Amino acid sequence: MNTIDLRSDTVTWPTDAMRQAMAVAAVGDDVYGDDPTVRELETYAASLAGKEAALFVPSGTFGNQLALFTHCPRGSEVILDEQCHIVQHEAGASSVIAGVQLRTLDLAGETISAEAILPRVRSGDDIHEPRTSLVCVENAHSNGKVIPLAAMESVRRAADRAHLPIHLDGARVFNAAVALGVQAKDITQYVDSVMFCLSKGLCAPVGSILAGTRRFIDDARRKRKLMGGGLRQAGILAAAGLVALKDMRPRLDEDHENARILAQRIAAIPGMRVDLASVQINMVYFTHERAGSIDPEAFVDFMRGKGVLINPPGADGAYRLVTHYWITRERVEAVAKAIADFFA
Ligand SMILES: *Cc1c(COP(=O)(O)O)cnc(C)c1O
Repeated sequence: MNTIDLRSDTVTWPTDAMRQAMAVAAVGDDVYGDDPTVRELETYAASLAGKEAALFVPSGTFGNQLALFTHCPRGSEVILDEQCHIVQHEAGASSVIAGVQLRTLDLAGETISAEAILPRVRSGDDIHEPRTSLVCVENAHSNGKVIPLAAMESVRRAADRAHLPIHLDGARVFNAAVALGVQAKDITQYVDSVMFCLSKGLCAPVGSILAGTRRFIDDARRKRKLMGGGLRQAGILAAAGLVALKDMRPRLDEDHENARILAQRIAAIPGMRVDLASVQINMVYFTHERAGSIDPEAFVDFMRGKGVLINPPGADGAYRLVTHYWITRERVEAVAKAIADFFA
């Protein structure tokens, strides 16, 4: 990658090792169950998630929506934080595909817990009310926050009390595991199904995993076909996914370290506001005290001129920078210098 692209970890290109693995991957028709590389990826992914089975899906959105579609009867209700990707960034798919209603929680910055969930659960005994069918959690959250194991356990307690399954949007579950100093399966032990992305910080070009019980995955496999996600010689993609899980997963702590260094460099620039304690994974958020008088477009353009791509600020005025495999330590220093130059 020639540009320094901090807009997301989705921008990552596949590594040379991935391109090699893709070139020589053994393939077959995966709709017939004939692709050995997809089968290897699914088996390995299931073991990392501590689940019986796993399914390769085209994207994270596809995996989340397939989970809702598989867990939930139409017209039922899903309880989740209103800031979740499923609510904010999946094009309203849950009403189209699973045909469910989203019952969102306004957590006001608090961590999700049994206390937040239980009062919202509806049995459906009253014919006016939808019946709750699922609880969803996101860890790590796409705002960079990690949910501790105690909170995961609290959600499990609520779900057990209400006889509900839990789906984890674990797009960055391996980043969460690094941040917590645990294995991914220590997080996923509390949930019934989990989706994680191969194509973010793990650098695969395409693909995500949905994992759960054998029965759940058998059902999801059928529904994946219905959604047009039955892929043929997908071993080409799964080969990159295996490199992602085996070689790239163990290095995610480097991205976290680079994010911390970037946050420290930015915090040292006069007028900058950076909450260093909030840098848990590969994301840095910052604002400047003169933000109101600075044209965001001018800043984004200035950075582009220095070969650095960033997104415009969010609704709260904060800029988000995301580190990943292609953002080396050297590049972190170059980015910090470019930001300092603009605000000087
Ligand atoms: C990126 C992301 C997704 C969706 O993944 P895509 O592959 O972009 O569809 C879902 N949930 C979270 C938390 C994400 O960050």
